[in-house]
Amino acid sequence: MADQPTTEGARTVLVTGGNRGIGRAIAEAFVAAGDNVVVTSRSGDEGPDGAFTVQADVTDSASVDTAFKQIEAKFGPVEVVVANAGVTKDTLLLRMKEADFQDVVDTNLTGAFRVVQRATKGFMRLKKGRIVLISSVVGFVGAPGQVNYASSKAGLVGMARAITRELGTRGVTANVVAPGYIDTAMTDALSDEVKAEYLSMIPAGRFGRPDEVAEAVRWVASDAAAYISGAVIPVDGGLVMGH
Ligand code: NDP
Repeated sequence: MADQPTTEGARTVLVTGGNRGIGRAIAEAFVAAGDNVVVTSRSGDEGPDGAFTVQADVTDSASVDTAFKQIEAKFGPVEVVVANAGVTKDTLLLRMKEADFQDVVDTNLTGAFRVVQRATKGFMRLKKGRIVLISSVVGFVGAPGQVNYASSKAGLVGMARAITRELGTRGVTANVVAPGYIDTAMTDALSDEVKAEYLSMIPAGRFGRPDEVAEAVRWVASDAAAYISGAVIPVDGGLVMGH
């Protein structure tokens, strides 16, 4: 972990998968808001300027626990956790191996569980906390070749709502942000044909930017959003309009 100064009175914010794409933009938004921001990734590749980087794999509970211990030693308990780390392994249902399904669920859904459960220990001491789960519109409308991914992303909604019912009285909120098509490495991998098809369906007439997702995440994790929990906030240019 790079040795950078901590900001007195700032919140400790953890963004998983914050070294690139949407996670990186989310980390940048919290840094700009003056928070102490930690990003994790498997590779350990550095997050944005002003954020601390800790190597951690969300598919490994021990690795998640070690990362939290490092963060807590430096900043104290995490107050805002953004479960953003995600992967795809697209293939049609009939060809999908059980391992393809399990691997995606293990990162996107169980990975979020591991991180959120660990963060909640600190929330109980703080008597407050903010959980933001990065889902996808695909979790609500589906997409061919993404039975694994859609299942994992839909599961995050149930997770946020169950947490809301368990911890609502403890000053904890749990919300879902559901991006549509955002320009990142993940969407770069799609064929030109699929990209054109998505574009034709988006009322805004363009793809989204990571910073547009980041602003929704920053806001729903703010004090101003204390009375919002179990909600799904789409950031999709009107692609899905609900959930
Ligand atoms: P990227 O592929 O650009 O980034 C994914 C991030 O997750 C990387 O930082 C990666 O880091 C990290 N990651 C992956 N697996 C693990 C793991 N096991 N442990 C820790 N970190 C991991 O994706 P995006 O920025 O596009 O997506 C971010 C999130 O937004 C994902 O959850 C995705 O499903 C969701 N999303 C994206 C959309 C889009 O259009 N781009 C649309 C809807 C949702 P490293 O490889 O170093 O581990």
